[in-house]
Amino acid sequence: MRLIILGGPGAGKGTQTALLCSHLGIPGICTGDILRQAIASQNPLGIQAQSYVEKGELVPDSMMIEFMRQRLQQPDIKGGWLLDGYPRTAFQAEELDFLLEDLGQHLDWAIWLEVPESVLISRSLERSRPDDQPEIVQRRLELFQERTIPILEYYEHRQRLLTVNGNQTPEQVQHDILCKNLAASAE
Ligand code: AMP
Repeated sequence: MRLIILGGPGAGKGTQTALLCSHLGIPGICTGDILRQAIASQNPLGIQAQSYVEKGELVPDSMMIEFMRQRLQQPDIKGGWLLDGYPRTAFQAEELDFLLEDLGQHLDWAIWLEVPESVLISRSLERSRPDDQPEIVQRRLELFQERTIPILEYYEHRQRLLTVNGNQTPEQVQHDILCKNLAASAE
């Protein structure tokens, strides 16, 4: 199974990724966590990404696309994967399709965790990550609206979008994802 999980900051992507990965036995690739770890260890990726992540800006497409090109060719993800936080822009989405075509793989579903903006804000502010400070959360939300929301249409058009109400308990959200996933896959 190859899945993408889409949602704003605080939508519950990380929680659902962990639950889905253990349920489906597939590895998760979470670009936000990878970048934060890279910054903490000051490796070359982290050094390049740091100023963007700290300000809540998006890391340049070219950097992310190259990173994913390498990551999706590693042997550990041959049997499937779940991408959390990627793609984030229409350009990344298109490039992911080209990459999958090159690799002879296909995407099963893009799961959209729909959560009202007020809930995204309050959930993000409850966390204590450095990029969850109020003005940075605001910028991440702006970028989410401008750059990531248009991707929904991209996947909708390809009949790959599963929309789930993310404003429920993690268990309910997980249940809805699995039900919709199974129902849609059986069609
Ligand atoms: P997240 O935890 O997914 O919200 O990601 C944290 C930060 O990492 C974002 O605010 C961006 O600065 C950066 N980031 C993560 N994924 C991407 C991506 N696909 N494209 C560009 N920047 C990203």
